Amino acid sequence: MSDSICTIETDIAVYDVRAEGLFPAGVTLERLCTGAIWGEGPVWIHEDSSVLWSDIPNNRMLRWSDRDGMTVWRDNVEFTNGHTREHDGSILHCSHGQRAIVRTRFGANLENAIDETVVDRFEGKRLNSPNDIVVKRDGTIWFSDPPYGIVSDREGHMAESELGDNYVFRYDPSTGELKVATDLVEEPNGLAFSPDESVLYVSDTSAALQVDGGGHHHIVAFDVVNDRELANPRVFAVIEPGLADGFRVDRQGWILTSSADSVQVYHPDGSRLARIGVPEKVANLTFGGSDGDELYICASSSLYRIRLNTRGAT
Ligand code: MG
Repeated sequence: MSDSICTIETDIAVYDVRAEGLFPAGVTLERLCTGAIWGEGPVWIHEDSSVLWSDIPNNRMLRWSDRDGMTVWRDNVEFTNGHTREHDGSILHCSHGQRAIVRTRFGANLENAIDETVVDRFEGKRLNSPNDIVVKRDGTIWFSDPPYGIVSDREGHMAESELGDNYVFRYDPSTGELKVATDLVEEPNGLAFSPDESVLYVSDTSAALQVDGGGHHHIVAFDVVNDRELANPRVFAVIEPGLADGFRVDRQGWILTSSADSVQVYHPDGSRLARIGVPEKVANLTFGGSDGDELYICASSSLYRIRLNTRGAT
């Protein structure tokens, strides 16, 4: 583990005049810490100004803050992947190992937190391995369920898929109802709503497991109808190089997505606006900081940060 923050040579490209104001003057990319095998699922904890994220092959969750540097938050976490917060502050985890959505409720502090299973079955069959997760303003939980945590023992426990397909699910904690939101994305992975929640973006990373160069590496956009159904799927952006493993939407509706060598920024009209080069393969990212204008980037072994002239949508 290293706690020394390192400034990386800035490698930013702006492709569209609309993105010229995105980067503060003199902006730098910082490497905050390193020591993971493969980091994913960062979530900002405003209560103590920290970031939690998953180091999946090491089966642990890490924590970083300006004050404390990097520490192990929890060991033996059953291969968590993506995270988000609920409106009451609970942390939701996508658990590959438990093949479930797990909730951490905490009151006075995280040390006294209680974990509970939110959902782990659909029509009596075990989920595959929940990957990424968002909470809508109405409190419903939307998550992707590709097979990446059951195809080997590296990021979970190798097993057969009981569902035989890969869905995006919508779970309503007030009723306990779990519904398939879409089965149209081959291997759904990252997901995020537009600021007004009229659009849900879902990445298809089916290229990840294919050795012949086939499969998808794009983001699909859906219209959200009646607050709960998805319609009008269209390929929003093909991400190259690599995949859109995870992404976030900012307050103006721009999509900031992982790519193999960078964070790429897209306008909702589909045009690529900018690129932030990152020296390691990027997995996931999240907004954080006291003003919400810091982008925290999980890229392979390290956690990076860059300050932007925007904020997360939520
Ligand atoms: Mg993912």
